[in-house]
This record gives sequence, structure tokens and C-alpha cells, in this order.
Amino acid sequence: MSPLYVALVHHPVRARDGSTITTAVTNLDVHDLARLARTYDLRAYFIVTPIEAQSSLVDRIVEHWHSGAGAKRVPERGEALATVRVVTDIGAACEAIEQREGRMPRVVATGARPPEGRAPLSFLEEAENLQATDVPTLLLFGTGHGLAREVVDQADAVLAPVRPDASYNHLSVRTAAAIVLDRLIGDG
Ligand code: SAM
Repeated sequence: MSPLYVALVHHPVRARDGSTITTAVTNLDVHDLARLARTYDLRAYFIVTPIEAQSSLVDRIVEHWHSGAGAKRVPERGEALATVRVVTDIGAACEAIEQREGRMPRVVATGARPPEGRAPLSFLEEAENLQATDVPTLLLFGTGHGLAREVVDQADAVLAPVRPDASYNHLSVRTAAAIVLDRLIGDG
């Protein structure tokens, strides 16, 4: 089984007009994806941001719930937030995985629309891939209007969108990540 990691990418991501931007970390994304990572026994949840002030914000959130007042009130939340690692870029997440696992991860991008010019993996294909290998996997989720084109192009694989033909396809990254993970490694 592939050791599985997720990353929430705040740069480079797309703006509505297609330009590349950096988005702000949101408290909800820190908590919800950490709870998801802990629930599915992921190895770690990387928060990717090049902005020092944002890294410090995440450190403060983790500190509060891991050893501060929050830990006393909701101890299980600290357990979830213990999965959080803040890194400046996707490469740093890959290096951290290589240090822990002894090999670089396979990087799999996600998105609400099928990638241009390359065939996406179905959930069944990727679920089988994860079962069949011990190579670590890093699953990338975007913010803003999605992962920047260069991130998708440089990924080793791209996962098919959830409900690609839906007339309305604007899932939050928290909802999308939950559906994706359950389809890949859920109990169903
Ligand atoms: N329109 C954006 C896009 O094309 O990805 C949606 C951005 S959404 C707010 C942020 C992230 O949630 C996406 O980068 C992707 O990781 C995930 N996401 C959103 N909808 C998804 C879907 N239908 N299937 C898979 N992932 C999705």
C-alpha cells in the first residue's frame, strides 16, 4: 500500500481570470483537512504556502490545538492537527516525504475539470495503484480556482474530477478531498 500524503496548495494556483496567484490559508481548511488526514490515517497533510506570515498563522493554529487552550477543550483535535506540516512549495513537501520514506513520492494532481492534453486516472485505477505499490503518493489539492497549469503538467498523474459532467461543479476543496479520499481508500 502506498504511504499516502495530501497537500493543500496555496501557490501556484489559478485566479478566476486564469492568472497565477497565491491564496491565503484559511482556518477551516487547516482543521477540516487535518481531521480528514487523521481519519484516513494519512502520513501527513502538507500546507503549501510561500508566505512566512501564513506559515506562522498555521503554526499558531496547530500550537493552540496541540498544546494550548484548545488541546484541553478538544483533545482529539490536537491529534488531527498533528498531521499538519507547513512547507514553502510542493518540492519541499516531496523532499520531506523522501526523507521519511527513502524515496520521492508519485505526485497526483486533482481538479474540477479534466486536464487538457492528458488522460486522467479513474478513481478505480488510482485506488488499484495505491494498493499495488509501496512508493509514496502525494495527492495535490488546490485553492482559489484550482492548481496552476504548470503544477498539473508536472504531476506524475492527474485524477479524474468528481462528477466531471455535472451542470454545477463548484465543490469546496474540503468536500472534494473527502470524496476523493473515500473513493481511493475508503471502506466502501
Ligand atoms: N474550478 C477549480 C478547479 O478547476 O479545480 C475548483 C477549485 S476548488 C475551490 C479547489 C480544489 O478543490 C481544486 O483544485 C481541486 O483540488 C478540488 N476540487 C474541486 N472540485 C473538484 C472536483 N469536482 N473533483 C476533484 N477535485 C475537485
